[in-house]
Amino acid sequence: MALIVQKYGGTSMGSTERIRNVAKRVAKWRNAGHQVVVVPSAMAGETNRLLGLAREISAAPDGRELDMIAATGEQASSGLLAIALQEEGVPARSYTGWQVGVKTDSSYTKARIRSIDAQRIRDCLDAGRVVIVTGFQGIDDEGHVTTLGRGGSDTSAVAIATAVKADECLIFTDVDGVYTTDPRVVPSARRLNVLAFEEMLEMASLGSKVLQIRAVEFAGKYRMPLRVLSSLTPPDIPIEQEMRSGTLITFEEDVQMESAVVSGIAFTRDEGKIMLLGVPDKPGVASIILGKVADANIDVDMIVQNQSVDGTTDFSFTVHRNDFQKVQDLMRNGVVEEIGARELVADEDVAKVSIVGIGMRSHAGVASRMFKTLADENINIQMISTSEIKTSVVIKDKYMELAVRALHKAFDLETEPVSS
Ligand code: ADP
Ligand code: ASP
Ligand code: MG
Repeated sequence: MALIVQKYGGTSMGSTERIRNVAKRVAKWRNAGHQVVVVPSAMAGETNRLLGLAREISAAPDGRELDMIAATGEQASSGLLAIALQEEGVPARSYTGWQVGVKTDSSYTKARIRSIDAQRIRDCLDAGRVVIVTGFQGIDDEGHVTTLGRGGSDTSAVAIATAVKADECLIFTDVDGVYTTDPRVVPSARRLNVLAFEEMLEMASLGSKVLQIRAVEFAGKYRMPLRVLSSLTPPDIPIEQEMRSGTLITFEEDVQMESAVVSGIAFTRDEGKIMLLGVPDKPGVASIILGKVADANIDVDMIVQNQSVDGTTDFSFTVHRNDFQKVQDLMRNGVVEEIGARELVADEDVAKVSIVGIGMRSHAGVASRMFKTLADENINIQMISTSEIKTSVVIKDKYMELAVRALHKAFDLETEPVSS
């Protein structure tokens, strides 16, 4: 008998028919003798609908109240799933995050889980029930409802799996695994059988929304193997077959990884670029600019600055779109003047495309192949950043899909690599 945590995303919970299918799948696992904790997302579109209602009333709604509203989506889907399981003859009970002590910090709309009271979940499992815990939400020290950021049910599932010491954490979604890139953009993208945590972490943080980045961080830290698999297969497929499907995200040393140099391509339109032009080239300038941004608790992604020949230089950096306006205001209300910059240009018309792969550690010339591919497509590179296992470029937004397709082809990602 194993203890399994299963997370079902919005599409998987998207209608009462789909919820019935989820119940059938869960019933199959439970009837085979396993203990199951299910973490559902809100029904597809529901979180957007709820947040949209708040924005109809206010352009800048209060974070606490947004979380209060958004958390109801998961509460509804969890209750519906409990009823569907009971209809299957399976005893099941749903709980909100706060009922099972999912404690978070107080950063509304992007809270971080601090601890989970696993005892309540275990007691309920030991009573022979399937336990359903709402994804995406928790409670802070003052008892306020919090949510974990968009896509946060992945993180709830991994955190719960870790807290109850589950044997497996299965992430059921609307694709049958993690692909070399988003299959909606590149139809010839290929499903990966295994992927290293580090690669998945880079993919998620560089824009692949198939898993929330914190879920991957959590799973890596607590060594919880994750499997991403489809919720759209017939619910009665044999468990052994189900456990061989999808993509296993695990540690390099635990499995034979594919031998491709580049494993995947991630992309995002979620960033904006700020350029400070004609900045005096003297010590302390970067510290003033980025210090102000850090003081506002905003993360900076890419940074580019050149040494000057004539005493002034240009300083560019990117931030998430959610913070873009705030950063412009910060710069215009003081920083531009303080550092004596000539001009501030804010460019929203950008996208970031990244190639990711642990094979890049041991292969030279990968970045230059990327730049050559983009040059052949006449795509200008505005910014570059690299780490051991990724290279990212910022380009004009309108070329993003072209760039992704060209790189997918150039790195031969359609074809299964030969095992080393
Ligand atoms: P869920 O609602 O189940 O959490 P998401 O929409 O959050 O599902 O994530 C699944 C989606 O992620 C897929 O439909 C796909 O379009 C997108 N996606 C982006 N990058 C990838 C990738 N590399 N592999 C698979 N899916 C990806
Ligand atoms: N319902 C939340 C969202 O739409 C959380 C999730 O689906 O993971 O972002
Ligand atoms: Mg998701």
